[in-house]
Amino acid sequence: MELRLDGTHYPLETLGPGRRLGIWFQGCTLACPGCMSRHTWDPAAGTAGTVPQVLALWRGALADGADGLTVSGGEPLQQAAALARLLTGAARLRDEARRPGSPPADVLVYTGYEPGELTPERRAALDGADAVIVGRFRVAEPTRLVWRGSANQRIVPLTPLGALRHAPHLARESGSPRLQAAPGEDGRLRLYGVPLRGELTALERTLKQDGVTLTEPSWRPGARGRGSPRA
Ligand code: SF4
Repeated sequence: MELRLDGTHYPLETLGPGRRLGIWFQGCTLACPGCMSRHTWDPAAGTAGTVPQVLALWRGALADGADGLTVSGGEPLQQAAALARLLTGAARLRDEARRPGSPPADVLVYTGYEPGELTPERRAALDGADAVIVGRFRVAEPTRLVWRGSANQRIVPLTPLGALRHAPHLARESGSPRLQAAPGEDGRLRLYGVPLRGELTALERTLKQDGVTLTEPSWRPGARGRGSPRA
């Protein structure tokens, strides 16, 4: 089954507990004001991939001892059929790869949909997830809650494993580092994680003082560039 992706990254250490494989879906119609991932909005942008290709990345990450899989975007639930296939496959591979005595890897999904917007079809697509972070990014509600961009967003455990891995973080505030920087597959700079309000502006200012100017950052209206994958 095909899916449209913005990108992948391993090891991801700023969106969920431990060292994780990060997968970003392409396409989002929710258009939250202040979204820092505007480059993920266009459903025709990004790159085409298949669920087996992504699962191969996950298999490799598990073999390396990954603590979990984080699926973000874009809006993963706007490719619900592919997401469902990916999550059930990821949970199966995780169960097959589990070593006795080692804690299992968890599967975490970000969605901009509110809990009341999770229709039966959308809930079914989340069947393989252990936890979900739900809710629109609301620029007027800044927060220090770990892995969340605004105070309304909630971590919701869906399985006993999700509760085990995520319960300690439901009300935890983020320490540092909150952002990772790395070149993406397209050679552009990528920032992974959720910055505090004003951190990106401060980063741009600091880089400029050092002679580095960011072109087309993805958090600027009208830009096509790449930046923080999630707010
Ligand atoms: S913050 Fe997330 S849900 Fe909102 S527009 Fe951006 S990608 Fe879509």
